[in-house]
Amino acid sequence: MNHYPASIRNVIRHLNKLPGIGIKTAERLTMHLLSAPETDVLSLAAGIAELKKSIRICRRCFALTDRDLCRICGNPARDHSIICVVENQADMAAIENAGAYTGEYHLLQGLLSPMDNVGPDDIRIRELIAKMDKGDITEVIIATSTQVEGEATATYISERLARFSVPITRIASGVPMGGELKYVDQVTLKKAMEARHAI
Ligand SMILES: [Zn+2]
Repeated sequence: MNHYPASIRNVIRHLNKLPGIGIKTAERLTMHLLSAPETDVLSLAAGIAELKKSIRICRRCFALTDRDLCRICGNPARDHSIICVVENQADMAAIENAGAYTGEYHLLQGLLSPMDNVGPDDIRIRELIAKMDKGDITEVIIATSTQVEGEATATYISERLARFSVPITRIASGVPMGGELKYVDQVTLKKAMEARHAI
């Protein structure tokens, strides 16, 4: 890599830090940028800079947003008495794309994983309980994955929420055991949401 000028080495090094981008790909992308129109390269650079400036976390559901409340939490047409608990943004997007759900979300930003030292205080369970304490929630749907951590997290949450005497449901049928939500097709996910059951 030393045969490249410093500014090229710099871009290759930064691209190489991205997930899934090896040194060869980083090199190829950098060469592509060099030959691309200047306006495209400048707007890509500006877009990356803007990401860090404008994106924050919704104060209600913890999804990524460019405003105080995200498009779902701030939408009066959504049913704000139903919460769908998901692991992360990708799972929320998968359920939204399936188009079968009109309530709001709660992003845990992780799953319980004792092996990795992730306990209840490391994911947003306290914030979920605080929402329940306000008393206007009528159903909680737990849509964590059916892998071990997703199941353990669902069980833990249902135990913590038991005292609120609100139906706690779990999406299950159609989501394969050990399956990650974001890889489930839209029809299956829609059916799984409709066929949720009490836990
Ligand atoms: Zn939100």
